[in-house]
Amino acid sequence: MTTIRLVQGDITRESADAIVNAANSSLLGGGGVDGAIHRRGGPAILADCRKLRASHYGKGLPTGKAVATTAGDLDARWVIHTVGPRYSHEEDRSQLLASCYRESLRVADELGARTVAFPAVSAGIYGWPMDDAARIAVETVRETETAVEEVRFVLFDETAYRAFAGQVA
Ligand code: ADP
Repeated sequence: MTTIRLVQGDITRESADAIVNAANSSLLGGGGVDGAIHRRGGPAILADCRKLRASHYGKGLPTGKAVATTAGDLDARWVIHTVGPRYSHEEDRSQLLASCYRESLRVADELGARTVAFPAVSAGIYGWPMDDAARIAVETVRETETAVEEVRFVLFDETAYRAFAGQVA
C-alpha cells in the first residue's frame, strides 16, 4: 500500500530516495522545477543527462517516459526525469500525463526507491490546469501497483497544495 503525502514547498529541499523532475525532452535543463533541480543538484545531474542523450535518447526523452540519473548534491539518491505533455485545448493528453507518474514509479521500482517526491508535472510552464493535473496525479498513483511506500507530492504554492488536498481528502 502506497501512502500519499502532501507537502507545500521546494522539492529541491526534500529528502527522499528519488526526486522527480518535470523535465523537457532535451534533458538538458529548462525553467521551473527543472532549472531549480539542476541549480541545487549541481553539474553531476547534467553530466548524466548528457550521457543518456548520447547513449539512448539521441532525439530526446519522449513525452510520458521517465529515466533516472544521479541526484548530485540533492538529498536524494536519484532524480527521475519525466517529460510531461503540454496542455492542449484541442487534444486530450491525459494519458500522457498519467504515463509520467506510472513510468516514474516503474523506474523507482527498478531502482529500489521506497520514497519518491513528485512536483505537479505539466502544471507550470506546460500549462495544465492545476485541479486536473492534481486529479490525474493522485488517481494514477492510487491505481499503480508499486513497491514505493511513500509518494510525496511537493507543491510549490498554496494553490497547488489546495488542488492536491482536494483530491486526497
Ligand atoms: P512543466 O513544464 O512540466 O509545467 P514546471 O517546472 O514549469 O514544469 O512546473 C511544474 C510545477 O512545479 C508547477 O506547479 C511549478 O509551480 C512547480 N515548481 C516550480 N519550481 C518548483 C520547486 N522548486 N519545487 C516544487 N515545485 C516547483
